Amino acid sequence: MKIFKFGGASVKSAGAIKQVAKIIEMETEPLVVVVSAMGKMTNKLEELCNDFFYQKGNAFALIEDVRKFHFEIIENLFKENDKAIKEKIETLFCNLQEIVATEPSICYDFEYDRIVSFGERISTAIISEYLNSVLLENQLVDIRTALKTDNNYRDANIEIELSEKFCKNIFTFTDTTRYVTQGFIAGTTTNQTTTLGREGSDYTAAIIANLLDAESVTIWKDVPGVMNADPKLFADAEIMPRISYKEAVELSHCGAQIIHPKTIKPLQNKNIPLLVKSFVNPDAAGSIILAIKEK
Ligand code: ASP
Ligand code: MG
Repeated sequence: MKIFKFGGASVKSAGAIKQVAKIIEMETEPLVVVVSAMGKMTNKLEELCNDFFYQKGNAFALIEDVRKFHFEIIENLFKENDKAIKEKIETLFCNLQEIVATEPSICYDFEYDRIVSFGERISTAIISEYLNSVLLENQLVDIRTALKTDNNYRDANIEIELSEKFCKNIFTFTDTTRYVTQGFIAGTTTNQTTTLGREGSDYTAAIIANLLDAESVTIWKDVPGVMNADPKLFADAEIMPRISYKEAVELSHCGAQIIHPKTIKPLQNKNIPLLVKSFVNPDAAGSIILAIKEK
């Protein structure tokens, strides 16, 4: 079983999502597909949270922007058979409107997590439904029921033992060969929504891989792999084909951050390789991060 992770850029439009489907279709192993919010939706939802918490008065207009963005993608992905998906997504927007129609609590970070998490909840609902519509049969898992955290909102810590138990019960692969689930978000034992820190979807993929003993994790990106320098600044920047876990940790802490720093440890602990590949050019080798014996 493998884990594929698609970030915001790889699901930012109907065209990009069709490319995701092609990549999934090429894979013959059972998969857990971890997906982020589409495009820049997390930023937009942060804006919404801020507006709601400080009662600035633009919350409903901001929800409308988010709604338009997703419905345009739905229009382009689904032809006539879009009734079911439109209803599902409409329900999520109703839930979001209900939240902002009430008074905010005193805890900003709590409000942040319950609002910003809609980005991943919406993106996965659309992508799971789209994959099923093109006969890439899959089940949508609400990761908040599987990954359990403390209530340190916006930077929640995974409760490993509990999450392992839930993940093993949920991702059984008994009646499907593919699951689609959310990166970045999780849930407390009392079912409050939490998040794992910005850009945390890589970390989600690594944790799920660790708990389920996956064969590998592939992060599909809009770059061809991990580069030895920033290609925007250095024309001779090259892809690093093989990188040790240790080097990857060092790289994740410096300038052009490709992988979230928390991603490596859970993989290294179980010796699970991490591939970083281009979603526009999936046949290219990209980079592989794995255990390399020090000379
Ligand atoms: N959507 C979240 C963010 O933009 C998580 C992620 O993309 O990894 O921060
Ligand atoms: Mg993102």
